[in-house]
Amino acid sequence: MADKKLPFSKEQLEAIIENHPTPFHIYDEKAIRENARAFKKAFSWNEGFKEYYAIKAAPNPYLMKILREEGFGIDCSSTAELELAKRVGMSGDEIILTSNDTPAHEFQLAKDMGAIINLDDISHIEYVEKHVGLPETICMRYNPGDLKQGNLIIGHPEDAKYGFTHEQMIEGYLMLKEKGVKHFGIHTMVASNELDPSYFVETAELLFKLIVEVYEKTGIRIEFANLGGGIGIPYRPEEKAVDLKFVSAGIKKLYEEMIAGNGLAPLKIFFELGRAITGPFGYLVTKVRHIKNTYKSFAGLDACMANLMRPALYGAYHHITVVGKENDEAKYKYDVTGSLCENNDKFAIGRLLPKIEPNDIVVIHDAGAHGHSMGFQYNGKLRSAELLLRENGDVAQIRRAETLDDYFSTLDFPGVKDFQV
Ligand SMILES: *Cc1c(COP(=O)(O)O)cnc(C)c1O
Repeated sequence: MADKKLPFSKEQLEAIIENHPTPFHIYDEKAIRENARAFKKAFSWNEGFKEYYAIKAAPNPYLMKILREEGFGIDCSSTAELELAKRVGMSGDEIILTSNDTPAHEFQLAKDMGAIINLDDISHIEYVEKHVGLPETICMRYNPGDLKQGNLIIGHPEDAKYGFTHEQMIEGYLMLKEKGVKHFGIHTMVASNELDPSYFVETAELLFKLIVEVYEKTGIRIEFANLGGGIGIPYRPEEKAVDLKFVSAGIKKLYEEMIAGNGLAPLKIFFELGRAITGPFGYLVTKVRHIKNTYKSFAGLDACMANLMRPALYGAYHHITVVGKENDEAKYKYDVTGSLCENNDKFAIGRLLPKIEPNDIVVIHDAGAHGHSMGFQYNGKLRSAELLLRENGDVAQIRRAETLDDYFSTLDFPGVKDFQV
């Protein structure tokens, strides 16, 4: 069977662990940069093309800096994420706010920063006008309802809480125009972790159709189309990565026919991908604590679902490498578990692996997006450190692990927060 490779040898990893106790997340800078460049290159035909990295996938300023150097903007969906963008010096159209159920102060912050605001509902037009004042540029999120098949994680569009209906889109553009908005964008996101490349071409077609309709019905020329996030990654070794050249060529053809063909060029193409940008290039490195044999065999790690909750949350597959045993036969069946008092705290169930022993190093793949950032402190579990494997092979700590002091820092109970021996 195909296997997944690691960007470090066993010896390199052991040396890293000497300075940085497990568990930790480690990101591969070289691979992230190469991937970012390939992505940009695939869409270089489109002037103004931009990927806004969905910062919720891995909100670390060191990673943001790398992606910014590669020409990416960021997509925020909360006040804290906007603040992070501000604190690393980002502003203006480097940032998109795609949030939902948004409070006024968040719209205000986005407007103050000059970020592109992407509205999630028609009622937000008057809400923003009243509380903040409408900016000159605005985008709206389209929910195509039953015009588009959903996928597993996001579900059917008509059940999703996001976006405007078709009629609301037309009505929304008319309202915005009347209220003096000058520049318009359109957005949709109807899938998450989708591996079928034609899905994204069809999504572009759906938006391009609407762009033409909006022009015909309102006279508005939409300037950018944000195709959202949702490009999947091959979590399983036998899966294939989405062919970006295929996606780009398909979108280009539609662009020429529907956008340029109707005199609606130039139109800037945006994405706001998270997973496809950093997902495959982050690893959760952990060590085996105990092997337990009862009705099943359990390999208990020093990491738990607080470090990576996708398997427990969605039953998601994450590939596992037992470091140094890559060539051993995978003929032992394990539930690979964490230490949380929740029986779904399992990274894998019934996974065939080489024979595992305490102190083995176990690497969990594809943790570079929606991994560390989904962490939580339930059961008193502390979030782990984040490391960066630099292009020259050096390792930098880009976020320290949480400590008990962090854990108790929000409790103003005498003696608890500032414990004195
Ligand atoms: C989560 C999210 C993304 C990123 O999704 P990926 O699956 O990581 O590509 C993009 N846009 C919005 C609005 C999101 O909520």
